[in-house]
Amino acid sequence: MLTIDEAQRIVLESVAALPAEVMPLLEALGCTLAEPVVAQVSLPPFDNSAMDGYAVIAEDTRGASREKPATLRMIGDVPAGTALSRTVERGTAARIMTGAPVPRGADAVVIVEHTRPGGAGGVEVLVPAMPGDNIRPMGGDIQSGQVALSPGQRLGPGELSLAAALGHTDISAVRRPRAAIVTTGSELVEPGRELPPGAIYNSNQALLQARVVSAGASIAESMHVPDDEAAVEEALRRCASADIILTTGGVSVGEYDFVKNALQRLGEIKFWRVLIKPGKPVAFGIVLGRPLFAIPGNPVSALVTFELLVAPALRKMSGREDCAPRTIHATLLADLAHEPGRREYCQAVTRATEDGYVVEASAKRGSAMLTSTVGANSLVVIPETSEGLRAGEEVTVIYPVYRDPWA
Ligand code: AMP
Ligand code: MG
Repeated sequence: MLTIDEAQRIVLESVAALPAEVMPLLEALGCTLAEPVVAQVSLPPFDNSAMDGYAVIAEDTRGASREKPATLRMIGDVPAGTALSRTVERGTAARIMTGAPVPRGADAVVIVEHTRPGGAGGVEVLVPAMPGDNIRPMGGDIQSGQVALSPGQRLGPGELSLAAALGHTDISAVRRPRAAIVTTGSELVEPGRELPPGAIYNSNQALLQARVVSAGASIAESMHVPDDEAAVEEALRRCASADIILTTGGVSVGEYDFVKNALQRLGEIKFWRVLIKPGKPVAFGIVLGRPLFAIPGNPVSALVTFELLVAPALRKMSGREDCAPRTIHATLLADLAHEPGRREYCQAVTRATEDGYVVEASAKRGSAMLTSTVGANSLVVIPETSEGLRAGEEVTVIYPVYRDPWA
């Protein structure tokens, strides 16, 4: 049986970044930039005031103090969004607002707090100014012609607003992966319907949909089929518009045949079963030319295998370099029993404290125990050979989980 490290390597070797698409800025939130953004204007585009105050010639304020203020004659007002046609000359000043262009002649802005009214509509400067004081020079942020954003850059609010500041409405980013979801199981009923004897509600559909969206991908299809080979095959054929296919159920030993047969007819299975707990029966292959993950039906197994295998694949398809799950070290708060064999992942809550991270694993460890996932933000990793982890030990934790670590 495969180790999880080998399985992750096979998955990441089998998927590639999707092509770029030009999209409105907001749609690109969280996406990876595909083409460089070069500044077509300088930021700021003109010398402007960083404060509300008075545009002056610094030399005029030399030696100014409360007792001996520099008295200047007012030549005009410069609110933001306007420009003063007059020039500030020796002995004069202009009232200026934050963001307004510094008028010709002036070389400093004195903040309002360092002035008081004086003379006939004039101003008294109480503190000497130095040339450049409170002026944001043209191109001080970025100069026209410089590269503002480079390919590979993740587009967050700062990056997108820089593109907007440079006048862009659209941006070229790696397309979001579109996922098709197929849940299988004749015992499953859609939530909202009445529950017949022996049936359970389909919770994996909500689980996979939510995790796909929280990974920054979108949902192309979402359907449910009974345990029937022909129905599974039919459903998979309807996934042709997707970039990635996710199925759940039908991969445990007794049931594997009907999903396996459908997969083999439509493509190639790369692996089935990995030495992990929960999630051992996960399968991966290329079906209809697309990566397909056959995820175990047990809900906690589905969440864990998504984090370990599907989320890294989605990151790679989204153009990210850092695809593997992130790990940290944390102090374990209570003992965790383990029998040597498979590497185990326990639902856990990790918190940052003054002394580093601490982690508390859920007492419930069954692969069908959905309540163990409530509030969980991490997975404690128990190594294959471990005979149990002790309270106080430094342990390896996958953190964060169930969301994009770069979001
Ligand atoms: P399977 O992988 O099909 O053998 O399913 C393993 C366990 O997960 C069984 O107890 C199933 O009833 C349960 N299960 C499978 N699919 C789902 C689903 N979509 N929602 C909730 N439980 C499921
Ligand atoms: Mg089943």
